Amino acid sequence: MDRQYIWHPFTPFDSWLSSQYDILSITRAQGAYLYDQQGRAYLDGNSSIWTNIHGHQCVEINRAIIRQLGKVAHSSFLGLTNELAPLLAKNLVTQANRGDKNAFSKVIFSDDGSTAIEAAVKVVFQSHQLGKRAQRKKFICLGGGYHGDTVGAMSVGQSSLFHGAYGALLFPSTSVQSPYCYRCPYNRAKSQEADARLYRKCKWECIGDLKKKLRSVSGQLAGVVMEPLVQGAAGMIMHPEGYLSQAADLTRKQGGWLILDEVMTGFYRTGQLFAHFHEDVRPDALALAKGLTGGYLPLATTLVTEELVAPFYGGVERTFYHGHSYSGNQLGCAAALANLKLLDKPSFSVNLQKRIAEMSDLSSRFWEHPFVGDVRQCGLILGVELVRDRRTKEPFPWQDRIGWQVCEAARKFGLLTRPSGNVLILMPRLNVTCRELRSMIEALEAALYDVFPNENKNMKPDK
Ligand code: PMP
Repeated sequence: MDRQYIWHPFTPFDSWLSSQYDILSITRAQGAYLYDQQGRAYLDGNSSIWTNIHGHQCVEINRAIIRQLGKVAHSSFLGLTNELAPLLAKNLVTQANRGDKNAFSKVIFSDDGSTAIEAAVKVVFQSHQLGKRAQRKKFICLGGGYHGDTVGAMSVGQSSLFHGAYGALLFPSTSVQSPYCYRCPYNRAKSQEADARLYRKCKWECIGDLKKKLRSVSGQLAGVVMEPLVQGAAGMIMHPEGYLSQAADLTRKQGGWLILDEVMTGFYRTGQLFAHFHEDVRPDALALAKGLTGGYLPLATTLVTEELVAPFYGGVERTFYHGHSYSGNQLGCAAALANLKLLDKPSFSVNLQKRIAEMSDLSSRFWEHPFVGDVRQCGLILGVELVRDRRTKEPFPWQDRIGWQVCEAARKFGLLTRPSGNVLILMPRLNVTCRELRSMIEALEAALYDVFPNENKNMKPDK
């Protein structure tokens, strides 16, 4: 039935429809494990596409949803409010502001990461228009950036793979060089068996590029959009320390607003509640989704500062025309509030910091594989970039789907995860146990050796 009726996201038909392809159907889950229709257990190695935080069947979140279900599942947010959304909004604003009274003041609710970005782009644009800065219409975005698949989110995205086919549909935005130290043409350091960010030799040419592009749109800049610290879909590109704070300062100097997409990095994924906390940056708009409900329900928020909201106060002509049927959904809000309560427990942070250190220790083994070019980590995100030649960093052609092959092989070793191109990704639940973490890393390593059965450097991968 699935093959007959379903069109799966990001999935080419040829592989899915091939009778040799073993389609897994997930029928239940517990903690870090997903179970298929035959009762086989798999470790959830990418937290169900980067959403899950406390594991599956989290008692507190289950209970919160069930309790809310007994009251009301959903009622319209248009012209009405509900018991939970204001509580959630207050909690998010308070935590994001860290005592700064001039920071975020309002929360826009939507359904997923794409719509959270869509709302951010529209609100920034309209705020300039209403605030008599009508010439400020341009957006600058990071090369390779990915912010979702709706037309506005694609327009501020810079992924030729994901958005290339839709170019003519999109509004123009300016791309700046991504601070991708491993593949940076300006990085003069010789390859080492270490995270390229740590031994790079450069003069911050990526910041130079941003400066240049900001000057080129002087007086017309609406905002700069970026995923702080880690660009997920681009291949877990991890930025060197200091990039974000410099980019934020430059954006402000040009009179633009900083839109941070923390759809993936939010809710402690990078070790702090929000990635931008690491560099003490103050964004003007903050998009949150994925982990907001602990990975349970589609709910998203866009937090905006009072400065940005101010031009909207007034009559009907100052309305923000954006909303969704399920904005402020009560079940989603109940899950999100339960998630935030769990994140607040001191034991959560202590465990997380231990696991981050363990991931760093355990993942060093990937360097032993000749087709591994870079191993990088931020919080509980691990990226292992596969290359055809470690010395020249020559990538495998994307058509070979090497990352995909390794992840397919990982199933045999009890691990489910998805790559981003040639980059293998591990992103366990944040309360993962040491044992589960070790098993995930071992399974991924076993899969790597399964696809490249011989360590011989000249070996071609076994297709
Ligand atoms: N922004 C980022 C950084 C993301 O990683 C994603 C999804 N991978 C999105 C936006 C889009 O989110 P969604 O798929 O929930 O629309």
